[in-house]
Amino acid sequence: MKIAELQPELFERFARVLKQDSLHHAFLFSGGFGAMEMALWLAQSRFCRSLQAGLPCGQCRECRLVAANDFTDLHIVKPDGQTIKTQQIRDLLLTFSQSGFESNRQVVMIDGAEKLHPNAANALLKSIEEPESEIYIFLLTASENMVLETIKSRTQVITFPNQTAIIQDDLIQNGTLKTDAALISELVTSLDEARCLAGDKSFLDSIKQLEKFAKALTGQADDAFLQIMQLVPLFKDKKSQGLAFQLLTILLVKQRQAKLAQNVFIAQRYWRSNVNFQASLEKIILG
Ligand SMILES: [Zn+2]
Repeated sequence: MKIAELQPELFERFARVLKQDSLHHAFLFSGGFGAMEMALWLAQSRFCRSLQAGLPCGQCRECRLVAANDFTDLHIVKPDGQTIKTQQIRDLLLTFSQSGFESNRQVVMIDGAEKLHPNAANALLKSIEEPESEIYIFLLTASENMVLETIKSRTQVITFPNQTAIIQDDLIQNGTLKTDAALISELVTSLDEARCLAGDKSFLDSIKQLEKFAKALTGQADDAFLQIMQLVPLFKDKKSQGLAFQLLTILLVKQRQAKLAQNVFIAQRYWRSNVNFQASLEKIILG
């Protein structure tokens, strides 16, 4: 799916900016949905050989290489473990001062900006303050609340809304049940992730089991305890267990069970502090 369809309003906004040739040099993109696609499209606009009224053509060699993350002047940095280290950024900036690049322009994308070390952020943002600088920086984060204030104040912050309606439509068109599509659309931050979950038979089965559990929670405690026995084998690893808590919360909020949703929140905290999955689920019933 193209960025114009993923984020139509933001696409229009940036198309105007490109037509006026007035793109800022540093952005913080908050919220995952379509953020990387947008950053790549804007990167294309910096390198495209046949711009169409300021917009990238999408066809030329440069556009194709950027789309494939394979262009020499595009640098995508990801966290090395828990942080993006200052040395990673220093190495990058050092390479800019060396020859061998296709143009003077450079585009840097930092995927996981909340993991940027303050010194790394400073070194990076300083590089665009030179008047002749042709460096464009896109910082991507799932949540701007986790990003340092010093970074936010020096970038233009753009919030990418989660487009649940677009995800739902896409899944339904591809054969997913409407109720499953609605749930999945609230869980994910990208269309790829949504399609992946919708195509996972065992995940869809586990949704059914969670729905039973959510229903049992409003009835007899004994029944809810029995449902837990059915649930535990379906969620074996930490990642799927995390999803289970998210799904349960969504289901209970839909049923207007605020108190139970609050219990899930507390149970999830126990689980995060290494209480096992089953005992954490039991906390939801015990309150
Ligand atoms: Zn092009």
